[in-house]
Amino acid sequence: LGGSISRALQQMSNATIIDEKVLNECLNEITRALLQSDVQFKLVRDMQTNIKKIVNLDDLAAGHNKRRIIQQAVFNELCKILDPGKPSFTLKKGKTSVVMFVGLQGSGKTTTCTKYAFHHQKKGWKPALVCADTFRAGAFDQLKQNATKAKIPFYGSYMESDPMKIAVEGVERFKKENCDLIIVDTSGRHKQETALFEEMRQVSEATKPDLVIFVMDSSIGQAAFDQAQAFKQSVAVGAVIITKMDGHAKGGGALSAVAATKSPIIFIGTGEHMDEFEVFDVKPFVSRLLGMGDLSGFMDKIQEVVPMDQQPELLQKLSEGTFTLRIMYEQFQNILKMGPIGQVFSMLPGFSSELMPKGREKDGQAKIKQLDSSNPKIMNESRMMRIARGSGRLVKEVMEMMEEYKRLAKIWSKMKGLKIPKKGDMSAL
Ligand code: GDP
Ligand code: MG
Repeated sequence: LGGSISRALQQMSNATIIDEKVLNECLNEITRALLQSDVQFKLVRDMQTNIKKIVNLDDLAAGHNKRRIIQQAVFNELCKILDPGKPSFTLKKGKTSVVMFVGLQGSGKTTTCTKYAFHHQKKGWKPALVCADTFRAGAFDQLKQNATKAKIPFYGSYMESDPMKIAVEGVERFKKENCDLIIVDTSGRHKQETALFEEMRQVSEATKPDLVIFVMDSSIGQAAFDQAQAFKQSVAVGAVIITKMDGHAKGGGALSAVAATKSPIIFIGTGEHMDEFEVFDVKPFVSRLLGMGDLSGFMDKIQEVVPMDQQPELLQKLSEGTFTLRIMYEQFQNILKMGPIGQVFSMLPGFSSELMPKGREKDGQAKIKQLDSSNPKIMNESRMMRIARGSGRLVKEVMEMMEEYKRLAKIWSKMKGLKIPKKGDMSAL
């Protein structure tokens, strides 16, 4: 998508005279690209109308950076769609909350339930998982396996066939055990069928969830809007999680899901593993969708804080995508000067602020220092134990350092092959 849009913008800015016709052609190109990315037709059409209203032909003609003006307008419009205009619902730690997961079979509910529980557990919550999927054989085993791996209490049954009964029993039990985040996994079935929605309604009525999360596979394409709407009509969907963002999905369906449910996306799933889960941020997501990233802002920052003589080398490494622990360590202190590190990295394509949560900068720096000369490729369990013993640290801490590294390496790898724009010049995007 990023490619098609840049091409459209390129063609337009090559035109000698920018009139309405040229702008329209450019917008049509962008429209096509968005549709191919599975953004719903109506959303694209509305967006096109809005952009035409915003973009001033006189500005375009007056030699301002045309690409930048239109790209910014597309960016803003997409962000607007992804922001449903109400703050995302927040649960309170320590106060019992019931969260119900809904979505079609295969969308990633069971996996996402565990990721969600695990994410909160790491932040000090006391989560629990309830398997109210009695439709699919093996559903309980899957949840049990996931829950056991993450050391999260679970409830379910091989015998009971009434999802409401299990859901209620599970919620009751974990309320007694003072769990503050009781997660109810539900069945999905293959199609959007009446029986499924009836079941969702009943489980919801029985368990009275504080939040219903709709889980959607990012690869379902244009079907996203209808599917999300169908769920919204049967249960009070309050938030959306988009899964399988690591695959070839184009991501446009996410916009449709927000538009259909009027609920914010709160997380995205980026892999099958427990920790492949990111807090959702609108701007970096749209950047990723458009293949842009606020690189010029990032470069400005780099030029501000990295000493002149080190800049060429760093830029070279960034664009090569060769990122080693040593560079990470060497550059970390410079990068820290750029300001809140999450904010800095959010300018990179494909970044999620979760990669470097606020307040973790110092911590991260210390951890990276310890890692300094370790080669992560050969970091196996016994090596971790050895390092832990040698440095008087817990194995868990060593594992956290590795996570830190992997997170940063992931960001860096996304920069591979990137054209680094000169200061203030967006045209390379
Ligand atoms: P459910 O039927 O909705 O409960 O879906 P599951 O949780 O069983 O997931 C269906 C499949 O999708 C499983 O093979 C999961 O491992 C896989 N899956 C779930 N989330 C993700 C994700 O974010 N990325 C990838 N690559 N696979 C995922
Ligand atoms: Mg499931």
